Amino acid sequence: MPFPYSPPLTEIRFVLNRLIGLDKITSLPGYDSLSDDLLDAVLTEAGKIASEVFAPLNDVGDKNGIKFADGKITMPPGFKDAYRAYIDGGWNGLQVEEQFGGQGLPAIVGMAVAEMVQAANVALALCPMLNGGAIELISSHADEATKAKYLPKLVSGEWGGTMNLTESQAGSDVGAVKAKAIKEDDHYLITGQKIFISYGDHDMVENVVHLVLARLPDAPAGTKGLSLFLVPKFLVNDDGSLGPNNEVSVVSVEHKLGQHSSPTCVMAFGDKKGSVGYLVGKENGGIAAMFTMMNNARMNVGVQGLGVMERAFQHARDYAKFRVQSAPIDDRKGNPVTIINHPDVRRMLLDMKSHTEAGRAIAYHCALAIDTMRKAQDDAVKTAAAARVELLTPIVKAWVTDRSSEVASTGIQVFGGVGYVEEAGAAQHLRDARVLMIYEGTNGIQSQDLTFRKVLHDQGATFRVMTDEIDAFIKSASLDDKPSCFKIMHENLSHALAGLMDAALWLLQDGKNNPLAAAASATPFLKLFGNVLGGFYLVREAFLAQDDLDAKQGDPEFLASKIVTAHFFATHILPLTSGLARSVREGAEATLASTETTFG
Ligand SMILES: Cc1cc2nc3c(=O)[nH]c(=O)nc-3n(C[C@H](O)[C@H](O)[C@H](O)COP(=O)(O)OP(=O)(O)OC[C@H]3O[C@@H](n4cnc5c(N)ncnc54)[C@H](O)[C@@H]3O)c2cc1C
Repeated sequence: MPFPYSPPLTEIRFVLNRLIGLDKITSLPGYDSLSDDLLDAVLTEAGKIASEVFAPLNDVGDKNGIKFADGKITMPPGFKDAYRAYIDGGWNGLQVEEQFGGQGLPAIVGMAVAEMVQAANVALALCPMLNGGAIELISSHADEATKAKYLPKLVSGEWGGTMNLTESQAGSDVGAVKAKAIKEDDHYLITGQKIFISYGDHDMVENVVHLVLARLPDAPAGTKGLSLFLVPKFLVNDDGSLGPNNEVSVVSVEHKLGQHSSPTCVMAFGDKKGSVGYLVGKENGGIAAMFTMMNNARMNVGVQGLGVMERAFQHARDYAKFRVQSAPIDDRKGNPVTIINHPDVRRMLLDMKSHTEAGRAIAYHCALAIDTMRKAQDDAVKTAAAARVELLTPIVKAWVTDRSSEVASTGIQVFGGVGYVEEAGAAQHLRDARVLMIYEGTNGIQSQDLTFRKVLHDQGATFRVMTDEIDAFIKSASLDDKPSCFKIMHENLSHALAGLMDAALWLLQDGKNNPLAAAASATPFLKLFGNVLGGFYLVREAFLAQDDLDAKQGDPEFLASKIVTAHFFATHILPLTSGLARSVREGAEATLASTETTFG
């Protein structure tokens, strides 16, 4: 049964205007024309395409799935038109630089738009998400001729983009890629098979531009021997028209737990002579170039998680306001009430709402850092912002998507038995969310990335800049004249930060010399860090909401709900951080004491 999606515009505006501060964006060169009116117009229109065009197709896609016959993929009914509406509206190029035919809007605006379309229909929105990654990669690393030939149609959305890393023996270990590339004239011939390629082919675009990692003869082993190639499905003539098929074919498509309308393909390249591929970046420099697309995708998979959380929350909330069951606990003989009146149901809804809003605040801060990294004039500011992006990316990817699965599962719990039955639609959120923890680098790999490459790598320097910011807030926040709940929020944030610092100290001292122990503690460390960051932003939002209430600005009900939500997170989630900090410090020993025989 289709269920509506309401774009959370008041919340998104609050995060952008109050928590982030729009002036931080508009003070960056090139973004000064982003007025409140323009932002409102973009968000309102994006909300419309999300709720009116993408959302009604969410369960259509789930029920119908894609069709694969005679080597061709047909998208579910309505998808082609919805995608057309999206690209005709110019949404595909929203944050692409104007010189490449886009609209040059900041990443943070792009993220707000992406959140809404992902919430509306995560399997469909994956397609433009991949286009965006391909555009960023090509515009950052390809030569001018390749940019001129491929970017216009990718930016318009008439062509789609894919990322081709995975092979059967090369999943988390991308360095194990075996696809081959041999130089011929001004191009290369690519042969090999890739698996799990999202949107490897479909009928919404005229051509598919594959970005493929492959290995030249005699290339060094591992990631240092990978080169990146642009391999179009149809060759492109000099006048831009399409030529013959480039020996690119879909071997099969996967049957998946969720995201039934996103085609996940086994792709074959070069079944005769070899698919023509054009080098992007340098020979053996492919992994560095591909990281542009991977980082883009990691961030956006986090945004997919955010979208699914919001959708699952709205769905559960609406059901809880409608379903009547049981008399209130303090009036056993009274009439049955809607389940939202039972404290435990409200607890579940607050758990869903607070994690969603925490995820949004973390992700949008990362987008702010992306914009600063791209546009700031001062080199030191740019470098610091780039380091912040690096630090936050695995948290946005893993913390938000881990939470999205939990939130979607809690959503099913709110529905009770109906939630387990497909007709209600609550189960789809969980099925769709589950892969977010796996693709684009599993969340386990993200925790290793955070621990080793982002914290230990610079001896905790970037991490400390972040925690200093939290500490400064705690020290400067005034509790004068604040309602009593602010004291506990403040206290619990302070304790949570102390726990995080303790865990980080262990990592920097003991973990540094014992990589196995650091690896064993990486996942609880990531969760701990995400919980503290989420708590920090939510508590800050509560202070801002109270200021607005005192100044009689804004919608009082919305502002009061921000305070309750932060209060909940501070009293239900932040206290868990002391346990997580102990797991980080003390837990590695047991994990490392286990052997293969421990498991029978
Ligand atoms: C629906 C879907 C869409 C996808 N889309 C794409 C796509 O568009 N393009 C693309 O290239 N790929 C895509 N993938 C592939 C995806 O990125 C991989 O599945 C993922 O990176 C994990 O690789 P794997 O499946 O081989 O698992 P494995 O690497 O075998 O991992 C299995 C388990 O071992 C753990 N593990 C492995 N190595 C380590 C390690 N060093 N340290 C700690 N733990 C480790 C993992 O965390 C995981 O829990 C897609 C996958 C799916 C399911």
